[in-house]
Amino acid sequence: MIYKRSSALFAEAEKVIPGGVNSPVRAFKGVGGTPVFVEEAKGAYLYDADGNRLIDYINSWGPMILGHAHEPVVNAVVEKAKKGTSFGMPTEIETQIAELAVSMVPNIDKIRFVNSGTEACMSAVRLARGFTGKDKIIKFAGCYHGHSDSFLIQAGSGASTFGTPNSPGVTKGTAKDTLLARYNDIENVTELIEANKNEIACIIIEPVAGNMGCIPPKEGFLKSLRDLCDVNDILLVFDEVMTGFRLAKGGAQELYGINADIVCFGKVIGGGLPVGAFAARNEIMNHLAPLGPVYQAGTLSGNPLAMSAGLAMLTELNNDTEAFNRLEEKTAYLHEGIAKVLNDNNIVHTINRVGSMISVHFDEGAVTDFDTAAKGNNDRFKKFFHGMLNAGVYIAPSAFETWFITDALSYEDLDFTIEAVEAVAKTL
Ligand SMILES: *Cc1c(COP(=O)(O)O)cnc(C)c1O
Repeated sequence: MIYKRSSALFAEAEKVIPGGVNSPVRAFKGVGGTPVFVEEAKGAYLYDADGNRLIDYINSWGPMILGHAHEPVVNAVVEKAKKGTSFGMPTEIETQIAELAVSMVPNIDKIRFVNSGTEACMSAVRLARGFTGKDKIIKFAGCYHGHSDSFLIQAGSGASTFGTPNSPGVTKGTAKDTLLARYNDIENVTELIEANKNEIACIIIEPVAGNMGCIPPKEGFLKSLRDLCDVNDILLVFDEVMTGFRLAKGGAQELYGINADIVCFGKVIGGGLPVGAFAARNEIMNHLAPLGPVYQAGTLSGNPLAMSAGLAMLTELNNDTEAFNRLEEKTAYLHEGIAKVLNDNNIVHTINRVGSMISVHFDEGAVTDFDTAAKGNNDRFKKFFHGMLNAGVYIAPSAFETWFITDALSYEDLDFTIEAVEAVAKTL
């Protein structure tokens, strides 16, 4: 395929936007080459600036679970826009989407809407600190909770020491309150809690990790975290920005039967508009301003266009009782197809999958945490990525990302994808 116009557009963008992009992973740094500029999208397909059609396995990094330009969502936004785009005053639609979200997700009474997943996680942690009166948090290496300071921390020497900032601009003062644990390692979490008795406000986790490939929680891991939190007066925060309204109506909480204390949302909940949210039971949410002392605010929070897109999306997912099953079946079909092709071609790999999240790792052995995810053969991934792109299939331009399956994919699209993998496999 030809990417002439995309390349030209990127060159222009680089002059006025740092790295030519407004979010780093879009820049293809992980795979080389220049990014594809998209012109429009419909259903399962992207149409790029050079007129190429691509089957999309990123889907805006999750939100487009029912496909691009999904009519009920587009219509809701267009109708709403005609009546004014922002007021900074309460609107009825905020209550409507809040009621629906609370009805779909177990164990939440109230929900506060923000503008991104980052804001949701940042605010959830502030609320956890305000509620418990404690400062420290535990996060897991390889889990992404947005780009706020507390979360940009990775393991220094050994996962049980204080984290060191992995971005300039994050202060040591902030970093010292973020403790790092290994995903799926309950002993490690127990040690951290023992070493920081009565100092930990919350444990924040992606209940299915989706930002180091797709990594499911080991059997009993989430339950053990829940128990540890209960015994030690620590709040359990599920970052369901990726998994919420994707793995089930009630997200990973429903799928695994574990209730978190605070739940963060983003991506699907906004139907493709900038929306995040965090939610909890009354006791916790009532600590938030204006009811309580923990401050949190937003000029565009609960924006009517964003709420109309989110409401249309959640309504569809709530009414279409088969949607999550269909998504899972399509993803399983893709999983089997790709695994067979890679096996037939003797390409060492591991495929992880939960519901409609799937990742292909070019390494043998289980991928259960950041270290095992990082072992994958990155050169092979780069070749794979560019091979797929050339064949008209767009997967995430990084080996550390999940593929997001959309219900707009037909079985012909899945077969097309598997055939593309077959062609590319011969070149790996
Ligand atoms: C995408 C993501 C975020 C950040 O959301 P933004 O809307 O990009 O700020 C946070 N947590 C998880 C699990 C995510 O996947």
